[in-house]
Amino acid sequence: MSSPQPAQHNAAIDHVASCALPTPWATFQLHAFLEQGSGKEHLALTLGEIGDGQPVLARLHSECLTGDALFSLRCDCGAQLESALRQIAKEGRGVLLYLRQEGRGIGLVNKIRAYGLQESGADTVEANHQLGFADDLRNYAICAPMLRHFGIRSLRLMTNNPRKIDALKTLDIDVERIEHVASSTRFNARYLATKASKLGHLLPQAPAHSSDASHTSEASEAAAASLKSDDHAGA
Ligand SMILES: [Zn+2]
Repeated sequence: MSSPQPAQHNAAIDHVASCALPTPWATFQLHAFLEQGSGKEHLALTLGEIGDGQPVLARLHSECLTGDALFSLRCDCGAQLESALRQIAKEGRGVLLYLRQEGRGIGLVNKIRAYGLQESGADTVEANHQLGFADDLRNYAICAPMLRHFGIRSLRLMTNNPRKIDALKTLDIDVERIEHVASSTRFNARYLATKASKLGHLLPQAPAHSSDASHTSEASEAAAASLKSDDHAGA
């Protein structure tokens, strides 16, 4: 995580396996990569001809177990993941890198610690600081060799995060930003506002609450309504 910038260019990863992955939106090709050194297992979902030199519609998605797999409305990760896969399927061509850096890099257990602190009033950045972590520990260096494996040098990147764009540019990857705003709900509104005000995310100001977000159900609304705070720390 704290590697000096030049070392990022030398991030090493091996492509180890692939298979078809049928989803509700398209049948993607799923690729497993193993990062040397850390032993982390990263994934890529690809669709269509992506190695032809033309810019590729892409999403770099950092793991969020609670948002991606457990339907959490504390953050917008699950909605962003689904939206990205839908967009790639609609276009018939693209790549999603699924990066194993949970909780903006602090890990799953620490993310849940941070959620607990947020229920006492801290926002997502303050909670990280209280736990002794920086705002955002994510590192995108591993993306360079993953994209190179597919012959990709130029992205049309679905993101609101300028740090991600800057990181890719230092890795000599061309990036055009595609806005990627997920629905705000009453559960993630403060989290999204903090991402915009403290982490520089390019989000609409004061996003309108939506009670019909795709991940919202009566059961989850009832459960979340018992939370003391609206603020959440997913990444
Ligand atoms: Zn999340």
